[in-house]
Amino acid sequence: MFSIYLSPPHLTGFEKKFIDEALQSNWVSPYGNNIDGFEKELEEYLDIPYSALITSATAGIHLALVILGIEKKDIVLVPTFTFAACVNPILYVGAEPVFLDSELDTWNLDPVILRTAIEDLIRKQRKPKALILVHSYGVPAKITEILSICREFEIKVIEDAADALGATYNSQKLGTFGDIGVISFNGNKIITTSGGGVIVSKNKDYVERAKYLSNQAKENLPYYHHEAVGYNYRMSNILAGIGRAQLQVIEERVIARRSNYERYAKLLFPSIETSLFSQRELLNAYSNRWLSTFYLGKNAVVGIYNNLKAAHIESRFLWKPMHLQPAFLRFGKYLNGNSALLFEGGICLPSGSQLEATQIEHIASIVKKSLNEVHV
Ligand SMILES: *Cc1c(COP(=O)(O)O)cnc(C)c1O
Repeated sequence: MFSIYLSPPHLTGFEKKFIDEALQSNWVSPYGNNIDGFEKELEEYLDIPYSALITSATAGIHLALVILGIEKKDIVLVPTFTFAACVNPILYVGAEPVFLDSELDTWNLDPVILRTAIEDLIRKQRKPKALILVHSYGVPAKITEILSICREFEIKVIEDAADALGATYNSQKLGTFGDIGVISFNGNKIITTSGGGVIVSKNKDYVERAKYLSNQAKENLPYYHHEAVGYNYRMSNILAGIGRAQLQVIEERVIARRSNYERYAKLLFPSIETSLFSQRELLNAYSNRWLSTFYLGKNAVVGIYNNLKAAHIESRFLWKPMHLQPAFLRFGKYLNGNSALLFEGGICLPSGSQLEATQIEHIASIVKKSLNEVHV
């Protein structure tokens, strides 16, 4: 229905080789060469010792919460400016999310709000157990400040790097900063296995636990014996094959997405002094620009969305904050207004890694025309 999609899969042509190997060897279950190979290749790429492939990043966040011992009534801090997939698992374990607002540099979690929230919750004898750190749209958050606050208060960090494969901070890959990191290979992400994810950690016990829990908590015995509640969250060997081919081109995909963003930015904001035009890359941060996001003002975005749609081009508003979602209205929040502002006036433009320069020019011209319609 669209002629240009927001973030479609981009296959390499080499996926079939890995899938065929799985089919020919009869390894079509969640075990086999592609699983072992893809885990090893991801560990090398991310420079982290342990990984477990799973069915989705959502499943990974769920496992991470279980592994860190988050239980009923525990408080888990989470940015309000994010995707619901990183909030839902908090409810799966019966814990309570508390939503924290964004800063306007990277649009991610505001460290000032983080400290305020922790101190206030401690005062109320409701000290948070964990934080879910998100790098929205692949732009690194203020990691140094956030980790130092979490260390000070001994709060565990689950890093939701679902969007952020290929991005770095101080030359270290995103996904490797938290106690546990999670990356997504959903069909719309920078590389895909059609659907899937990986959980990574420097802590061997955590990843062994993830493998055990994701495989029905089945003990290594000749009969079915279970010491814990398990899940069926393992990735299949066929899908891991798709991922192996995709991972080979991750650097090209990052370059393509970054160049989409730079093209849009140059066309839309010839004078970049405008302070709130997009997510800023901090010093020593390297984003994968999974999606090209822009703040164009609340009087403009609906017109832009509609004009793009009329031209069969898919766009999407920025995350609707979690504290405004009917499903989550009852939970605590610490706000500064930024996430609501971003939702009202921001947009994600088509960001696929196969987009051509002429398509970006076409999209940008529709955006500019829509902006002029607002300003006259
Ligand atoms: C896509 C996404 C997820 C969920 O990933 P799945 O693999 O689809 O479960 C989680 N968090 C964020 C920030 C995402 O963008």
